[in-house]
Amino acid sequence: MDVPVKSSSENKQLTDQFGRTINYLRLSVTDRCDLRCRYCMAEDMTFLPKSDVLTLEELCELSSAFIARGVRRIRLTGGEPLVRKNILWLVRALGSKVEQGLLDEVTLTTNGTQLPTMAEDLYRAGVRRINVSLDTLSAEGFKAISRRDKLETVLEGIQAAKAAGLRVKINTVAMRNFNETEIPDLVEWAVQEGLDLTLIETMPLGEVQDARESSYLPLTAVKNALEQRFTLEPSTHKTGGPARYFSVGDSKSRLGMITPLTNNFCDGCNRVRVTCTGRIYMCLGQDDHIDLRAALRSQGKEEELSAALDTAMGLKPKGHDFAMSNGQMVGKVDRHMSQTGG
Ligand code: SAM
Ligand code: SF4
Repeated sequence: MDVPVKSSSENKQLTDQFGRTINYLRLSVTDRCDLRCRYCMAEDMTFLPKSDVLTLEELCELSSAFIARGVRRIRLTGGEPLVRKNILWLVRALGSKVEQGLLDEVTLTTNGTQLPTMAEDLYRAGVRRINVSLDTLSAEGFKAISRRDKLETVLEGIQAAKAAGLRVKINTVAMRNFNETEIPDLVEWAVQEGLDLTLIETMPLGEVQDARESSYLPLTAVKNALEQRFTLEPSTHKTGGPARYFSVGDSKSRLGMITPLTNNFCDGCNRVRVTCTGRIYMCLGQDDHIDLRAALRSQGKEEELSAALDTAMGLKPKGHDFAMSNGQMVGKVDRHMSQTGG
């Protein structure tokens, strides 16, 4: 019987040059989207030709390479992951890895527009938690920020997800002159619906029509405003991610805050991102990357991918450089969030 030759790095836990354990993969399955959120995309985005995008089978093989190196959680993202044709095939494949104990969790981040028809299938495929992005409860506001008239569909999608048994966390980008005064109402709504909600500071990712500085809202200010209405207590809840969590009064909902600009969160970073073309980015806010596609399509793909992941670990930077300086956002990167995978 042939014994497969294992490279020395195979099965070793991915650890970066600063000793951080990497056990979380955010996998972008498409750069396309049915919305055009103003802080994320320009209206006239040029999307990748379909021939550049990895097949679902290749995305699954890539996932296996990460799992072999100690990744325990995979989040599908994009662009909008649920507009990728046959995406449920990949979700099922990853769900079966959870069932086999090879993964702890498969999750996804979605804008919610496809949830009315897909929520039950996602649950059946093995998903138990999802993040839904929602910046306002006003139909006009939703149309203004996403350039599409889909608030009703998204709200219907959130109800469908709850009914299917999925735990839902809302992601809200905090924006001056947009949802600044509405955020306490959004938190109240999340509490009433039994949902968690995480606020995010706008990051300078890719060119968009509006100047990012004009909508930048530090969460320090938002927290002060929220404390006028709610009792927020720091929570011990940890996900290994960038959010700091608070309990909201005596409700079951948790409030998260992701503060890349006012409070860098990189010390405990446990993640890498892979684009739908197979590029691994070690940091959302830096350009260092490696193309995994050649390794994925090579003869000895398991060894080649494992070796490429080791190279990537050596290139993972200490952190991003996003900051406000004299009223200007610095540390910008050219890639939109929808290209790297949110
Ligand atoms: N389409 C899905 C969605 O909207 O949830 C997944 C991809 S989206 C790029 C992931 C997350 O990134 C969303 O919560 C979105 O609000 C956030 N996002 C996009 N651009 C951002 C930016 N420049 N700064 C902060 N968050 C951003
Ligand atoms: Fe699409 Fe998500 Fe970007 Fe909005 S944030 S444009 S839903 S990818």
